[in-house]
Amino acid sequence: MSVWKGCLALKHVLYIHPESNKSGGSDIVVPAGLIGVLNEVKKISNFGAINLPLEKRINSSFNILDDELIRAADIILIDLHWYVFSHTAIELSRQIKAIRDNAVIVLGGITASIFSLEIMNTFSFVDFTIRGDAEKPLLMLIEWIDNPDNFCYIPNLCYRLNDGIHFSEHVYVGRYDKSLNSHDISWMRHSDEFLRYQGRLELSNKNGTLYEKLAWIQNAKGCDFNCSYCGGTCDVFKNFYSYDGMRFKPVTYLISEFEQIHAKGIYKIGITHDLGLQPKKDLHELCNYMIRKNIKFGIANFCFQLPDLEFARIFNKMVNQENSIIGIPIICGDELLRARSGKCYSNKEIELFLESFTNSDVLIVSGKCKSTYSAS
Ligand code: SF4
Repeated sequence: MSVWKGCLALKHVLYIHPESNKSGGSDIVVPAGLIGVLNEVKKISNFGAINLPLEKRINSSFNILDDELIRAADIILIDLHWYVFSHTAIELSRQIKAIRDNAVIVLGGITASIFSLEIMNTFSFVDFTIRGDAEKPLLMLIEWIDNPDNFCYIPNLCYRLNDGIHFSEHVYVGRYDKSLNSHDISWMRHSDEFLRYQGRLELSNKNGTLYEKLAWIQNAKGCDFNCSYCGGTCDVFKNFYSYDGMRFKPVTYLISEFEQIHAKGIYKIGITHDLGLQPKKDLHELCNYMIRKNIKFGIANFCFQLPDLEFARIFNKMVNQENSIIGIPIICGDELLRARSGKCYSNKEIELFLESFTNSDVLIVSGKCKSTYSAS
């Protein structure tokens, strides 16, 4: 794949995170896996980004259809990562296409991956869907958008050509790349408000440290479990992303991101994939690094399963306890029902885990994992 030639005009690419059907501001997110991709897109385009629920929170009369970025965009990327965004992502695509019929609309994310063909068959105003990882496909699509004959070479792409809908035969599975900046969201309009809003959501704890910025870090991709209520299961990643299991980011990359975030004056981090599942060797390395550098982050960690007691000990040691939170998916008190949902641990084991936080200021809540932020 070549990069943009100087003689070609850069395309105007606009990323939009849509609103969801849920209320209460829980839709002010960005899929964490997408951040690295968008930082690459930014290098080869005139790039802009709008987080629609955030804009609406700042200005309730905000109308995206009047926005200058919509008027200028050649390519519009909309994430359809989680099913609660389905109606709004599709409706937004329809409204944009009605006023900008020459703009290209691309949907991607877990839900878009699962329903790629259905979306393309049903909604003619969606031009492309990406099924699976998007790093390489998106860059290739931007480069070749005016060359339909090349679409078949773009991996993971579902496209229209000669009145038919086609899937590329090429498959791409993203690899971790140290040069990929997967936490900087300065390209988003109101990015500071976004980071503060994340901090307020996740860590408005008993000490009232409201509005302190929180950056999300993607420490892994995929999942090894098949919880009954989840759209981002092991099987989904196997069938639609060609993953053979959970894929942890190398710990050296993780440490480098912690360093960069700290250097920006951000002291709270949300972890997309339960640190309790992280290889213990990596966790020790991360802990030793934080102690050695005297860096204390507040960390929001939402567990996939119940972590072991060694994790509790390491977590208590390495974090700023007063600004940290652990979410445990308790689901319900009935152990059989809990197991049927995919969470196999007893009430006694939960009790023991909680006891290891008796003398800790870490806030423990009952909460499901945040993996929906995580894959690209
Ligand atoms: S709920 Fe969490 S642990 Fe369960 S399948 Fe989904 S991402 Fe995996």
